[in-house]
Amino acid sequence: QIFMPLNFLGFVYREIRGSLANIDKLFNLLEQVPAIKDAADAKTLQTSNPTVSFNDVHFSYGEKRKILKGISFSVPAGKKVAVVGPSGAGKSTIMKLLFRFYEPNSGEICIDGQPINTLTQDSLRSHIGIVPQDTVLFNASLRENIRYGNPDACDEEIEQVIKLAHLEAFIEKLPEGLNTTVGERGLKLSGGEKQRVAIARALLKGASIMIFDEATSSLDSASEKAILSALRDAAKGHTSLVIAHRLSTIVDADEILVIDDGQIVERGTHETLLVKQGEYASLWQNQQRDKLEN
Ligand code: ADP
Ligand code: MG
Repeated sequence: QIFMPLNFLGFVYREIRGSLANIDKLFNLLEQVPAIKDAADAKTLQTSNPTVSFNDVHFSYGEKRKILKGISFSVPAGKKVAVVGPSGAGKSTIMKLLFRFYEPNSGEICIDGQPINTLTQDSLRSHIGIVPQDTVLFNASLRENIRYGNPDACDEEIEQVIKLAHLEAFIEKLPEGLNTTVGERGLKLSGGEKQRVAIARALLKGASIMIFDEATSSLDSASEKAILSALRDAAKGHTSLVIAHRLSTIVDADEILVIDDGQIVERGTHETLLVKQGEYASLWQNQQRDKLEN
């Protein structure tokens, strides 16, 4: 009697796996019912080198718990701002608000002085490339997985982002190179490799704003170095917001925001924050110690 339900579960599991392979279709479906509507007179965002600013942003997902409690910062055109802090502090939420998956309860988010809720979502999102915390690879060739960032991209553009994402050496070692099938039914990529594919994908979109939500999974030091170089190169020439877990990736940030419980508790450059000997400095010292021990 126990076999029936187990078989059935197996079936459901395979069905879900199957539909994950068609995740772009799933996204299309979701996009047809936008939770947030464009204003009737919504404008198209036009910018080439944008400044992003958050002005006293408050936000909660539900009624009760406040997640962001007055966040203000700006990322000047072409600069890099990093967000660090404990898990659950609200870092990814900041990113989701900029992409306008949700609306702030109060305060304003602007790009070049234009509040994002006065812009069409299409135009806003076309200017933002996201490297998410968890990257989904489809059961398709590596080339198709990268091209997903811009279906119209030509081979030269793909080659360029592969270089910037420091994937060249990795791809050269694959028997079928870019034609290698990856994903659940293909070659399994390590966490670091997946992240670099995500970086290549996001770069291919050609957006002027880049958001990196660094994965928390631990990396060996070779992968960490590759990610570090990829993040540096990918951020160049972009207005970038980096949510970092490994502080080594953001030492060069123009400003670092330390978030705790929905508030910015410290801000500055790596050097000024170290001198301050506050939360950032102890986070840094802990990570340095962990590195020595591993
Ligand atoms: P971080 O990225 O700093 O780890 P998040 O921004 O993801 O933190 O989450 C901040 C808080 O908001 C957490 O307590 C989390 O549980 C909660 N949260 C995140 N997403 C949702 C959601 N979709 N609905 C309700 N609560 C959420
Ligand atoms: Mg997060």
